[in-house]
Amino acid sequence: MSQTRQDWERRARELRIETRAFIDGHYRAAVEGDTFDCQSPIDGRSLGQVASCGVADAELAVQVARERFESGVWSRLAPVKRKQVMIRFAEQLEAHREELALLETLDMGKPITDALKVDIPAAARAIRWSGEAIDKLYDEVAATPHDELGLVTREPIGVVAAIVPWNFPLLMACWKLGPALAAGNSLVLKPSEKSPLTAIRVAQLAVEAGIPAGVFNVLPGYGHTVGKALALHMEVDCLVFTGSTRIAKQLMIYAGESNMKRVWLEAGGKSPNIVFADAPDLQAAAEAAASAIAYNQGEVCTAGSRLLVENSIKDDFVARVVEALKTWEVGCPLDPATKVGALVDKQQMETVLGYIEAGHRDGAKLLCGGQRLLEDSGGTYVAPTLFDGVDNAMKIAREEIFGPVLSVLGFDSDEEAVRIANDTPYGLAAGVWTSNLSRAHRVAKALRAGSVWVNQYDGGDMTAPFGGFKQSGNGRDKSLHAFDKYTELKATWIKL
Ligand code: NAD
Repeated sequence: MSQTRQDWERRARELRIETRAFIDGHYRAAVEGDTFDCQSPIDGRSLGQVASCGVADAELAVQVARERFESGVWSRLAPVKRKQVMIRFAEQLEAHREELALLETLDMGKPITDALKVDIPAAARAIRWSGEAIDKLYDEVAATPHDELGLVTREPIGVVAAIVPWNFPLLMACWKLGPALAAGNSLVLKPSEKSPLTAIRVAQLAVEAGIPAGVFNVLPGYGHTVGKALALHMEVDCLVFTGSTRIAKQLMIYAGESNMKRVWLEAGGKSPNIVFADAPDLQAAAEAAASAIAYNQGEVCTAGSRLLVENSIKDDFVARVVEALKTWEVGCPLDPATKVGALVDKQQMETVLGYIEAGHRDGAKLLCGGQRLLEDSGGTYVAPTLFDGVDNAMKIAREEIFGPVLSVLGFDSDEEAVRIANDTPYGLAAGVWTSNLSRAHRVAKALRAGSVWVNQYDGGDMTAPFGGFKQSGNGRDKSLHAFDKYTELKATWIKL
């Protein structure tokens, strides 16, 4: 049954929000009793006092996770049994999708329609896909001499700590939970302090689905407290992270300073979206370019934040993008018609507005947006913004803004397009629009990015590995490649 804004607001008022940490199958306050105020960016209302975990909580959760791993209750369960539990876990997410979508929207400001139709179903898919895969992954027998047997096997790595961001809170967590749990590891999840609520809620759903208590624990809290404690912990075998490049680098240092735990990083981006004059459908390309910066308020690691347009069509094309951006209206995220919600918090809004100022200062030409909206609501809304006349050396072209601010740059040749596209410390994703098959392949090969989309933006599903080149990270989420992060490879050589 379709629901109105009033329905969602009523449900929001009636919602009982769990705010405690989840360790060993139970909700509990932080050991030191600390909390932080969780505010909704929709209107600044307080959603609750969330447990602010620290070193003592990390100690407890890692100890439980280690003990449960060694017990074999999950790690040595037959893959087919783990599969069944993971599928039940996915079904739990689906059964609670409205509650989870509402929590996600209240917590981080994304439109309820997106949370309901994109985030939660995709999170459930990630869990189900990984679960379904686990009893279809075979190990290897090496090509040995006749009197020896060489086995090449994959084993769960042990205790995994997962530290995730706030832009797709549950989905980013599930890209890691899926393969990590399916492979038999124990896990401690630290959600972002800006959006901890769905992670806290799904811990209970996991236990109800049959994941043994203590195998999956959730510690809400700040990065510099509980995040750092996990990253430095000697009993954490593997640290998986999605977040900024700055923190990703810090985590590599923590691993080096502690036990050389494996560190897998999904970090920032400044992705180029390249439109050639021979694009098959310029209108479709313009609409995709608008979506690539306005969707999820531009708070997307793969946002197409640098739009590179061949100069011969640039003025016409940019006019189409500006028109398309007008359809991305900003509004209350609880209204099912809203396409652009609130930025995650005041700090992020100030950051985005600061970049808009930098665009003006550096001489870029504002063609739409550029200001805060709906200030009276008490929320943090910024209009989708487009700057033309951007040079790739400008701050708005170099740094990840993580908001709805698009920079447009012109080019005259394939070589120039590729040079500008690759002139960035990042390498997460890129788009290429052309009807010329050879050009599509040539340019896609030349782009230093983990995902390249041709004649579309942001394609792919659980079958496609996702991750970055250069300072966008290492390792891959999604697909069977994701299991590499959560397993150790063992060679067993037997003399017959
Ligand atoms: P962030 O790096 O500030 O925080 C990410 C997580 O790290 C949070 O949980 C935070 O509490 C924690 N953290 C912060 N300091 C820490 C420390 N010293 N030790 C341990 N943990 C610490 O990033 P963010 O603002 O939450 O998210 C936005 C960033 O995430 C953007 O750069 C975006 O590109 C990136 N991102 C990347 C992908 C990807 O798949 N590559 C996907 C989504 C978001």
